[in-house]
Amino acid sequence: MSSRKFKTEVADLLHLIIHSLYSNKEIFLRELISNASDAIDKLKYLSLTDEKLKNYSFSPRIDISFTEDGTRTLTIKDNGIGMNEDDLNDNLGTIASSGTRKFLASLSDEQKKDSNLIGQFGVGFYSAFMVAKRITVISRKAGEENAWKWESDGESSYSIEPAERSEQGSTIILTLNEEGEEFANRWSLENLIKKYSDNIAYPIYLEYDQVHYDNEKKDENGNALKTTEHKVEQINSASALWKRPKSSIKDEEYKEFYKNSFYDSEDPLFYIHTQAEGANEYATLFYIPAKAPFDMYYADYRPGVKLYVKRVYITDDDKDLLPTYLRFVRGIIDSEDLPLNVSREILQENRVMASIRSASVKKLLGEFRKIAENNPELYAKFIAEYNRPLKEGLYSDYANRDTLLELVRYKSSSEEGYVSLKEYKSRMKEDQKAIYYISGGKEDVLRTSPLVAAYREKGYEVLIMCDDIDDIVTATIGEYDKTPLKAINKQGALDDLKSEEDKAKEEEKKPVAEKMKKALGDRVKDVVISSRLSDTPAAVILGDDDPSVQMQRLMKQMGGDMPEVRPLLEINPDSAVIARIEKSDDEDFIKALSGVVLDQALLQEGVMPSDPAGFAAALTKLLS
Ligand code: ADP
Repeated sequence: MSSRKFKTEVADLLHLIIHSLYSNKEIFLRELISNASDAIDKLKYLSLTDEKLKNYSFSPRIDISFTEDGTRTLTIKDNGIGMNEDDLNDNLGTIASSGTRKFLASLSDEQKKDSNLIGQFGVGFYSAFMVAKRITVISRKAGEENAWKWESDGESSYSIEPAERSEQGSTIILTLNEEGEEFANRWSLENLIKKYSDNIAYPIYLEYDQVHYDNEKKDENGNALKTTEHKVEQINSASALWKRPKSSIKDEEYKEFYKNSFYDSEDPLFYIHTQAEGANEYATLFYIPAKAPFDMYYADYRPGVKLYVKRVYITDDDKDLLPTYLRFVRGIIDSEDLPLNVSREILQENRVMASIRSASVKKLLGEFRKIAENNPELYAKFIAEYNRPLKEGLYSDYANRDTLLELVRYKSSSEEGYVSLKEYKSRMKEDQKAIYYISGGKEDVLRTSPLVAAYREKGYEVLIMCDDIDDIVTATIGEYDKTPLKAINKQGALDDLKSEEDKAKEEEKKPVAEKMKKALGDRVKDVVISSRLSDTPAAVILGDDDPSVQMQRLMKQMGGDMPEVRPLLEINPDSAVIARIEKSDDEDFIKALSGVVLDQALLQEGVMPSDPAGFAAALTKLLS
């Protein structure tokens, strides 16, 4: 037997792992199972490609067993490629990956204390020292006669000596320490295997003793007779649906997988399966739930995408795997290139992850677009649930804005249901300069706005933007396909409906506007003559930089400091009421009537008069 010292960096690494990963010590099992699976992968590959090992036949399996009494041990056995003496030395006595070694060397003492940094490299095998006071590896390399035993207490040295093993593969025996004893039982192991390794491609068997007590039969002490039965049960489902060739997967299987994995009783609306090869190798399988997740609008929503690395489950609690606005998407991202021990902080800055993420967003949005074009019925269902988060995307995902503009839908003054900006544009009149919309209120209030009526009369369609975020979002869009979007309840849209004739009239009627402005004092910013109103004496509009009435109310509700925004009053000089003001010289009368006209216009926007008693008094006075 020879005793050898670990390379110094291994000693460092062991120390680092044991002290920084402690809160998460259960991951050791995931690491060992993943190693076993890799070893089987390697042998499978060689049995197909290597001259010496060609047609080597074996049925891949991983076996896990434990002893519950006396010295507690946990054993993970595989029939993969195995290791010979040199391999054991190289792989378990030094840090195998040169990248890891360089990385470790680059860390300062300060950084070594940072448990997040350790996530940058695979800690792998050594993590088992968190739960074991001694590790014994018995291994025999495929195609070789001799087996070897590697053993260490994880302090500073290890030993290697000849051993016996009847077939190729490795057996890892952990002699558990106090911290590890909790893992030497059927339930913990079953849970951990299911949690982390359910999708490992090879069967993982757990050996355990099932104890029965038979009340009919008594033992010599008169107690129920105890019998034990030795069981070997496969724990993982070994499915990893997303890794199978797409053509081999039935629609039903996709749906079943969704319902089982994401706890939904309904079929998804649709799913998108991608297998990317090349520089960045990964698979994604995304599902769109039929109904929006109940917590979609909670700040503490649960993210719907699970991250795997080489079929090994990593996390389902990372909100950054997809952008926030796609939080309704359910599914899986499985990367071949990330380290198993990747941490959240690392993920955020990881280039591999960033490229998977941006490709996934493009893929999802592209698919939504295809469905919008080819399957309007399905798209309508999709929009009914997810229009609003897509609008958030318009605001937050500048890079994909053009696609998102094709995806969002709005209510309209001239069509039933939802319309797209593209449809709107195709219906625009020849002389129409902008896409008109009105926002900042409930749908029925916006629809009955006199401004909408004025545009309709001229044959212009108006988008009714009644989602609470439209106000904020639409203002940032600017234009769609080179056509500007214009809010008709803002000053800037005023000129669009004016003809030369209108302009002349405006000049002529200026005096009545001034009269009213004087009468209303600082209740208004200005009073302007309108040519767009037909049936109504007046409407309130907003200055180009003013928040909508709805927004003002919202900000007040949230306790924000909202400077008083004075409305602009747009009056219809053809209306009888305005004509009365025009003709009158009675200042009291002008004041009362102007006030009622303003309050009435505000009422139409859903705003209560600021002085209801005054409003009522003025109205009574006028009526009598
Ligand atoms: P990693 O798996 O990230 O390379 P580990 O420390 O877990 O790092 O393992 C180091 C090396 O030891 C592996 O790359 C592999 O070559 C070898 N090894 C570990 N476990 C096994 C096993 N069960 N069978 C064969 N080789 C193994």
